[in-house]
Parts: sequence; C-alpha cells; structure tokens
Amino acid sequence: MHEMALAESVREIVEETARTQGARRIAAVRLEVGALAQVETAALRFAFEVVMQGSLAAQARLEIVEVDGQAWCMSCSRPVALARRGDGCPQCGSFQLQVSGGDRMRVLDIEIE
Ligand SMILES: [Zn+2]
Repeated sequence: MHEMALAESVREIVEETARTQGARRIAAVRLEVGALAQVETAALRFAFEVVMQGSLAAQARLEIVEVDGQAWCMSCSRPVALARRGDGCPQCGSFQLQVSGGDRMRVLDIEIE
C-alpha cells in the first residue's frame, strides 16, 4: 500500500512547516489528490491516521480535495478532461493523450495552533 509512504512524506512536510512556525499542534491538513494520481483516498485516510500518531498532527483533521485529471489530446490539439488513466479522449476517442494535470498529490495547506 503506497498510501503509507505518501502519508509519511506528508507527515515530514507538515511537521517541518509546523516547527518552523513554532506551532504546538496541527489542527488540520488539506491535501490535493489528482484523479490520475493512483491514490486510494480511503487507504490514504487510514494511513494518515496511523502515520500521524505521536506527531504534531496526531489530532489533525484530514481534508482531501480531489481534482480532475487533465490530458493533452494529440488529435484534438487541445486539453481534455480525463477521469481515469488508460481512458481515451472524451471528444474523439483517441489514446494519443499526454497527461498534463491531476496526476499527483500535494499538501495544499495546514492549520496550526
Ligand atoms: Zn481528442
């Protein structure tokens, strides 16, 4: 389950940020997860809870903002929405697509106390 590794990197980022700002604890963490990031949000929530134990974010509320996938279609010569990796272009059905967005997970912001 690679969500565990993802949650660990999130912990590093948020703890580092909280420490530099002199926070006592992290109240909330907001993550952006792209539709093409191959991240299972239920697994991520579980991993987050496990990984954050004993950290500054032990009591933190996790907010997940899901964003759509986007790709550049070579035949349409324009960006199109992509719900899943491996799907064809919703306009022309072509598979000549280059993923251009919604393919990663990142920390949007945190709420500290
Ligand atoms: Zn197309």
